[in-house]
Amino acid sequence: MRYIPTPWREHYVRNTVKAKGCALCEALRSGDERKSGILYRGTHHFIILNRYPYTTGHLMIAPYRHTAAFERSSPAATAEMGELLKSTLRILRAHYRPQGFNAGMNLGRSAGAGVAEHYHLHVIPRWTGDANFLPLVSGTKVVTEDLETTFDRLEPLFEKERKRLADRTRLKKNTTPSR
Ligand SMILES: [Zn+2]
Repeated sequence: MRYIPTPWREHYVRNTVKAKGCALCEALRSGDERKSGILYRGTHHFIILNRYPYTTGHLMIAPYRHTAAFERSSPAATAEMGELLKSTLRILRAHYRPQGFNAGMNLGRSAGAGVAEHYHLHVIPRWTGDANFLPLVSGTKVVTEDLETTFDRLEPLFEKERKRLADRTRLKKNTTPSR
């Protein structure tokens, strides 16, 4: 078994207890999408790179509102979460060719949530034995990727997805039967 050093996780573990404020809210406020890793802004949710990725392409879908209670989100927000999950899976599958995904929420600190007060859906591409995975990206083998590289690869794909979703909404409106 080969191990890939993951210094960012060590940093994470060391700083969790000390962390003040909410990392997701801070990212939203930062004003620098690339630096904070915000790939997409929807109506209720945004998509952000996990700063301490389990694998390359590890994203989170989170609401703008600082809330822990997913069960209280509106039907529209819940529906958007589902659509954004589908878009995310499509983009990650096409770009990183993972063999599987983990998609889920850790709700509450006891369940392992790092940011417990602000719910977020993790989407993690998986490869068999991904402790030493070598995903194929544009024909190049990469072991790990820094976050800005991941951002630069994925951001244009989410921009395309935004147009696709907008076109679909427009199409739906145009085909609404009128009298
Ligand atoms: Zn927050």
